[in-house]
Amino acid sequence: MGFRPFVYRLAKKYRLTGWVNNTNDGVHIEINSDNKQSTHFYYALLNSLPPLATITRSAIYKTKFTAHTDFSIVKSENSIKPKLLLTPDVALCDDCRNELRNPADRRHGYPFITCTNCGPRYSIITKLPYDRPNTTMVRFKMCKVCNEEYNNPMERRHFSQTNSCPDCAVEMQLYEKGKLTQNFTNLDYIVHQWQQGNIVAIKGVGGYLLTCDAANPKAIAKLRKRKHRPTKPFALMYPDVESIKKDVVLSEVEKEELQSIHAPIVLLRAKSNLELLSPEAVNEINRSLSRLGIMLPYTPLYDLLLTKFKKPIIATSGNITDSTIIFQDDKAISALSKIADIILLNNRDIVIPQDDGVVQFSKKHQQKVTLRRSRGKAPTYINPKLQLPSKTVLATGSMLKSVFGLINQQNIYISQYLGNTDSYDAQCNYDQTFNHFEKLLSPDFEAVVVDKHPDYYSTRFGRMLAKKHHLGLYEIQHHKAHFYSVLGENNLLDSEEKILGVIWDGTGLGDDGNIWGGEFFVYHNKQMTREYFTGDFNFILADKMVREPRIALLSIAGETKEIEELIKPKFTETEWKVYTRLLQKPDNLKCSSMGRLFDAAASLLFGFDVHSFEAEASMQLENRASKYYYYHPVLMQDSYLDDDIPDNLFTFLMKKLIHDITLQTDKNHIAAKFHISLVDYIIKVARKFNINKIAFSGGVFQNTLLLDIILENMPVDFDLYFQKEFSPNDEGIPFGQLMYWACQNKANNK
Ligand SMILES: [Zn+2]
Ligand SMILES: [Zn+2]
Repeated sequence: MGFRPFVYRLAKKYRLTGWVNNTNDGVHIEINSDNKQSTHFYYALLNSLPPLATITRSAIYKTKFTAHTDFSIVKSENSIKPKLLLTPDVALCDDCRNELRNPADRRHGYPFITCTNCGPRYSIITKLPYDRPNTTMVRFKMCKVCNEEYNNPMERRHFSQTNSCPDCAVEMQLYEKGKLTQNFTNLDYIVHQWQQGNIVAIKGVGGYLLTCDAANPKAIAKLRKRKHRPTKPFALMYPDVESIKKDVVLSEVEKEELQSIHAPIVLLRAKSNLELLSPEAVNEINRSLSRLGIMLPYTPLYDLLLTKFKKPIIATSGNITDSTIIFQDDKAISALSKIADIILLNNRDIVIPQDDGVVQFSKKHQQKVTLRRSRGKAPTYINPKLQLPSKTVLATGSMLKSVFGLINQQNIYISQYLGNTDSYDAQCNYDQTFNHFEKLLSPDFEAVVVDKHPDYYSTRFGRMLAKKHHLGLYEIQHHKAHFYSVLGENNLLDSEEKILGVIWDGTGLGDDGNIWGGEFFVYHNKQMTREYFTGDFNFILADKMVREPRIALLSIAGETKEIEELIKPKFTETEWKVYTRLLQKPDNLKCSSMGRLFDAAASLLFGFDVHSFEAEASMQLENRASKYYYYHPVLMQDSYLDDDIPDNLFTFLMKKLIHDITLQTDKNHIAAKFHISLVDYIIKVARKFNINKIAFSGGVFQNTLLLDIILENMPVDFDLYFQKEFSPNDEGIPFGQLMYWACQNKANNK
């Protein structure tokens, strides 16, 4: 990240002699100076870091005197194990963008322009430390001019490991109708393909993206059909911020997030009258959800293409249905040629696949929610306030949104999103990414932390690893891990005061063998206990209930008298007979999942009876409720709750919803009242336990309407803590598992 040149230039400014290097345990600097001068230099260095640099630890001390005549950058020595952080892939920087567009610059129009402040890192590294021979740039020999830039400490590209130019270029290839064209440079041809309504697969940073004209509903429909993806929303890439503003409402924080070095997809609120996309196109893209997932061109290639096209494109992961994003060229040709009309490849290899990251902000309070932490963020997490044990540990995460994490040499690494390890493809991705980490960091694991659920792939993986290498095995219940995740992120693990954890989620195996997901934990004296929960309902048909909201509705509302009229029509005669009989069985598992309550409400109110993609029903419920909440005065008085806390929140709320339906209340209004009642319920439970520090996690808190209602209506004497860096969904689990382990080990050390 240009750290050594930065030190060099600073040393020159201070007229110091000595050297700087970059080894596996970080940067070392030696200078000839007196105490006063070296202290000045030390603080100047800490206070003027280059854009990508973060210092997690630093120290200054006296060494044995060696005289130096000049200041120099010396070669890396690698005698010890890597203690370095892995830098994420960074979006195109402004300096490079300006050069890219400047006809007088020697890199004008060069699609792989980079510098020390931008470009790929994590996606191209094969070995630490980050030096050119340890990246997939090793095959490109720098030309004379690039080499001079590389070796000149006063240049922005000094030691830029990705340095290249049109004379020593990363080259593109075009695959079309079974033919591969080498050294392809005609970007107008790609733009022409979009204009013709064709689908183009393009190799980017973390893998291949499938693209087409976002304003052409027919092209999008074709992409949906070929990709076997009937309804799940597609992400978009717009040429620039100005064009984004034509179609969505863009706040200042949202703009900053789009333009940040991470450059994620941001879910933005579509205007009622879009300029660049027709209503038909929007309907093809997101099926009437109110937000559009938008990103900016984060590589020079995308920047060049979008500048030419001047319109948004669909930019979705190049994969089949929900499997891992394709990143290898041969696999792209064999698998993506069935979807894309042409494929744009290049000869800079990607080492491991990463999807684009996704975040969103709540409308009113601009509360940030990370939905997917991936390209641009993974795999480093820096929080100097966390006190970590020096042991090495692996946390294997969950299943639906698989991610693993490790503490190694007191650094935390959290992998990119790896997919749903229910699928074989994602399991392979999980294994490969783990092997890659082993190769990069050579960790000496002493312990493994797994979820309590014995059938998760990640749990089996962790158990096998522990058995094979005789490692300590730790188990932590799913929702407790969620709670540890939000506690760790907010530096609350050493809190003296009681903290109430509101963990509302899809499903996770509870300590009592039932299915949990509507939990209240209390964290006090480093102990976590389940103090309260929402009540429960019968859990039948296993994963089928998760996929079909109508089944959750049947289970929760089964006792009400309106069932024949409102719910029965959602099932066939046979289904009805079988399911109602199943519900009568005395030995059913009990379920307290709040995710299922959202499903049931969405099925009851709006007919979202069967999911076509994960969490569709609850997203639609939030969407409908937002349409009411943000435009009408809705108050806590509208809560369905009276003074008491209902024993069973599920059946209580369901009866209220059904009653309101029979009164013909506006359904969007009912959905808003449903959300408000949940916040009212949280307040009442917090008061019951007399706790005013409240931390929220679990998939339900991806719901930004719920966050706005919480922030707006929770009394001011409450301190509220949320997940921002990590997702409240299951992606946040491995970080929580690591925090649990860190707590246990600190306690044991005492
Ligand atoms: Zn740059
Ligand atoms: Zn060159």
